[in-house]
Amino acid sequence: MGKYSRTDILRLVEDEDVQFIRMQFTDIFGQLKNVAVTSSQIQRALAGEIMLDGSSIQGSVRVEESDQYLQPDLDTFTILPWRPQYGKVARLICNVYNPDGTPFAGDPRNVLKRALEAAEDMGFTFNIGPELEFFLFQTDENGKPTTRTSDEAGYFDLGPLDHGESTRREVALTLEQMGLEVEASHHEAAAGQHEIDLKYADALTAADNIMTFKLAVKTLAQKNGLHATFMPKPVHGMAGSGMHINMSLFRDGRNVFYDEDSPEQLSALARQFIAGLLAHAKGFCALANPLVNSYKRFVPGYEAPCYLTWSSSNRSTLIRIPDSRGRGTRVELRSPDGTCNPYLVFAACLAAGLDGIRRELTPPPEFPANIYAMSRSELTERGIGSLPLSLEDALDALEADPLILSAMGPYAARYIAEKRQEWEEYRTQISQWEVDRYLIAW
Ligand code: GLU
Ligand code: MG
Repeated sequence: MGKYSRTDILRLVEDEDVQFIRMQFTDIFGQLKNVAVTSSQIQRALAGEIMLDGSSIQGSVRVEESDQYLQPDLDTFTILPWRPQYGKVARLICNVYNPDGTPFAGDPRNVLKRALEAAEDMGFTFNIGPELEFFLFQTDENGKPTTRTSDEAGYFDLGPLDHGESTRREVALTLEQMGLEVEASHHEAAAGQHEIDLKYADALTAADNIMTFKLAVKTLAQKNGLHATFMPKPVHGMAGSGMHINMSLFRDGRNVFYDEDSPEQLSALARQFIAGLLAHAKGFCALANPLVNSYKRFVPGYEAPCYLTWSSSNRSTLIRIPDSRGRGTRVELRSPDGTCNPYLVFAACLAAGLDGIRRELTPPPEFPANIYAMSRSELTERGIGSLPLSLEDALDALEADPLILSAMGPYAARYIAEKRQEWEEYRTQISQWEVDRYLIAW
């Protein structure tokens, strides 16, 4: 049973004086899309009769098969607190359907739902708690975003150093108003950098929450004259922004990653899940880290991962097991960044972890040392692989991973083709670094 019935929504629209309903969905590249309908159309909207032209959405269908329908998930109904409170605006997150009533395979939300059904067949529910890092930058006199900040604060600092503090506070309060639970929010290591952690939820809700979160951060930053960005490495020589995801599997209401009697109280299933993630980490990297810029974050020294290792404490590894046990036992994957499509990334991580469980894989030994302190040859000697160094390498790794391709479904090819084009465009640019370094000397 869901939270809201159709009757509930009709009543809410009436009682709350909602004038517009935004029907939202996410494209395969992780961009939020929406069409607004007036409240007079609510019956049609709830019946899934609102159409869109799929051929106009990047990475979606071809022109000759472009009609698609938006079927709202009623439980996602919420009022947008930053819109006028007289004649309010609500939103509904939707699934995209084909005219014949089948789920559209290029809708990432449908991709995740399919992956979750596979987990359910094994008796599992998949929970995720995301930690989102982002920068708040100043805008120039024309309102254009810059990479400047007058904030000089660092990790866990508080005002008056921290100029973004009031924006961060507003985001946390707004999200709570929208029904999301914020667990923590703080200043991050770099000047102008912030983090907000959401309470764990089932993976579908968690992915919806991330999309809501990003919209709220961007909108409220703009309202406060700042620009919020999830760009993974906006400034050279400063920490980048990640989106760590804390994953756990539950069966019959119990966290199956916890086992009181196993070493470090981590169950065999948890270890197999970790092994599966490590086996496919290169394969899903092009999803978790989808931009050319994502790979500039993978440099030693900034608490971003570079190598395929796990540990129960160390923040230089790809996978960390945070301290809490019992219901809170979880596996933290540190590679994703906030520009990823969370639906696709969660589907891929789940497929990878379940593959580890099905094949009963054993993870390599834990890596307790600071991996940044080791040389590349030492790492090679120990057989430790690294994450792809570029979007191109990541796309090659994705193409070589049939499990992740199949988790993504038939639209994987479109994703890869468009991302290869993005890489090619970048590859042929002449950067300022090259001009500075070579123009005079050569
Ligand atoms: N900003 C770091 C990253 O790029 C993570 C810092 C932390 O451990 O929270 O992933
Ligand atoms: Mg952080």
